[in-house]
Amino acid sequence: MGGPAAPDSTWKGALNVSYNIGPGFVDNFSTRSVLTLTFRIDIVCLFADRYIILGGHRDSWVFGGIDPSTGAAVLQEVVRSFGTMKMEGWRPKRTIIFASWDAEEFGLLGSTEWAEENARVLQERAVAYINTDSSIEVWKIKSCPDEGYENKSLYDSWLEKDPAPENNITDKFTCSFFQKTDKFSNYPVYHTVYETFELVEKFYDPTFKKQLAVAKLRGKLVYELADSQVIPFDCRDYGEALKGYSDRIYKLAKKHEEQLKTYRVSFVSTPLLCAGLPTTRPGCPVF
Ligand SMILES: [Zn+2]
Repeated sequence: MGGPAAPDSTWKGALNVSYNIGPGFVDNFSTRSVLTLTFRIDIVCLFADRYIILGGHRDSWVFGGIDPSTGAAVLQEVVRSFGTMKMEGWRPKRTIIFASWDAEEFGLLGSTEWAEENARVLQERAVAYINTDSSIEVWKIKSCPDEGYENKSLYDSWLEKDPAPENNITDKFTCSFFQKTDKFSNYPVYHTVYETFELVEKFYDPTFKKQLAVAKLRGKLVYELADSQVIPFDCRDYGEALKGYSDRIYKLAKKHEEQLKTYRVSFVSTPLLCAGLPTTRPGCPVF
């Protein structure tokens, strides 16, 4: 990148390059366009201006046999199923947006560009975003087929395979659907040249039933969110999850108090406390 050098070592990585903070680039850079595809089921209804979004990326680090192709396949299967229902006359109560992101592996660029471009409308109208990525690790909820566990619920089969205490949700119907972003994939070929379609076909999901189970789960989730009169969502769980994230950001920010002061970044957003603070933008400088 071009622009001034990074202010201190915390901004620098281990590569033998100069770490600048932009904007723009130095010489010898190449560009590649980012193509995000979105399509939607529009409706004329009371909740038409409320959006349920199902999205997943389709670019890969190498061959992407699992990440993202199993997730992209799930997205396409859900779209196909909803398309069939639409042709039969079904219309959801809320608008559904399907998104296929480009350039996820390089810093979530595709989805970030789209979210920034539509930030205002998303802030006002988006109800939920469901992500669909690697789909060989089958998740929770009832009555979905997981190969070898046909007589059990999907949740029970998932718990049996991964009985960690945090996965044991006693009240299955009020669990929050926050994706855990702090845990990276736990399959050993992640992002390697060995992550091929052949590997999925021979070892991970030979009958493709795992991907089907995930498609049913994510499809059902989108269906419930889009078509229920009252959104099946527990604000208390949501609040708790948000508080957890904000606590983590706050603790991280505490390590950089000097920079927060220099750049006038604050967690405090009440008008009283902000009064008198010089700011170039209308409103308070909010982190
Ligand atoms: Zn991915």
